[in-house]
Amino acid sequence: MQVGLLSTYRNPVQNRAAMAWLWALLLMAFYIDLYFFDHLDVAARLVHLPSKWTLYGLLYSVAMCVGGYFMLRKHGSSRYHQVRTAVLVAVQCTLGFLLPLALDFMGRPAYYFSYFFPLKYDILFPGTLKDMPVAVAIWFIAGSFVGVPLLVFYKGKRAYCSWICGCGGLAETFGDPWRHLSDKSDRAWRVEQISIYMVLALVFVMFGLVIGDAYAADGSAVRAVAQHTRSFYSFAIGSVFSGVLGTGLYPLMGTRVWCRFGCPMAAVLGLIQKFGRFRVTVKKDMCIACGNCSTYCEMGIDVRAYAMANQDFKRASCVGCGMCAHVCPRGVLRLETRDDAGPHEAIGTWTLDL
Ligand code: SF4
Ligand code: SF4
Ligand code: SF4
Repeated sequence: MQVGLLSTYRNPVQNRAAMAWLWALLLMAFYIDLYFFDHLDVAARLVHLPSKWTLYGLLYSVAMCVGGYFMLRKHGSSRYHQVRTAVLVAVQCTLGFLLPLALDFMGRPAYYFSYFFPLKYDILFPGTLKDMPVAVAIWFIAGSFVGVPLLVFYKGKRAYCSWICGCGGLAETFGDPWRHLSDKSDRAWRVEQISIYMVLALVFVMFGLVIGDAYAADGSAVRAVAQHTRSFYSFAIGSVFSGVLGTGLYPLMGTRVWCRFGCPMAAVLGLIQKFGRFRVTVKKDMCIACGNCSTYCEMGIDVRAYAMANQDFKRASCVGCGMCAHVCPRGVLRLETRDDAGPHEAIGTWTLDL
């Protein structure tokens, strides 16, 4: 455990005491019920909402609004956090809840316009695209392959993961009290480097099989394998990993378990970030090794090690939340995207540490 803002560890909900386990069990039970049972459909009908997914969107938005309020009470002295949190909450409330709700009431399919491939893994399946209006299909194709990658190349992964994505949004707001619990060890980093690319590979295998399935004859082996792979991914990755564990483990393993170890979009965006402009720069010989930056890095990056080595760095997993810079008592760290901002030689060393 890093030494940091020690008050964080005095609260039993935040230090893996019994209360934290209780919270984790409650969150996991909620997600198991959401994915595998129909109780929330009954609750949704009681409040005149179309389905349990709409109710979930409502609860998610409320959790982000309330969490965002408390997050800003703690960290709102930073303009970066004020604007970022406001944008995250606004995107969730409009694109993640109100627009899908309005489409549902109009009898149209409820598209979530802020999620792209490969995070929303089925949005580009031939069967899904075929039923979409052309403009919507263009939005998802262009967003997945041009818009988000370009944004990330110039502004860093933060542009999507800490400003737009609803999963990151929940972590940054509702999950803020637990952000310090992420594992900073090298072992966790090694696991992350393997697991995240395995999930990405699985997405591409599934995608290839689904495309093969579109042209396969009834009863063919490709069709059977495609359907099994799709069911497996939907259950194991889409429901259990990203939902039940991804959120359920907030109180025990920090808020970005899914973002760090599983999200296929994080894998792609991380690679783009490594070759893009975004980096964290370090003011030389200013670090006093207090450890706040590492403690509060939700992606488990040992920022202090870079700061003590006077080393600017790029890490594929960095979501640009800006918390390391915010909690540094010496103003050592800075999130940087300008081409002309200081020496670059030091960064090269780290570009291979994907
Ligand atoms: S890592 Fe994935 S789930 Fe997390 S914020 Fe980024 S895109 Fe969203
Ligand atoms: S290194 Fe800093 S900006 Fe990047 S994820 Fe960690 S705390 Fe956030
Ligand atoms: S960079 Fe800042 S927060 Fe991090 S260890 Fe050094 S002084 Fe502390």
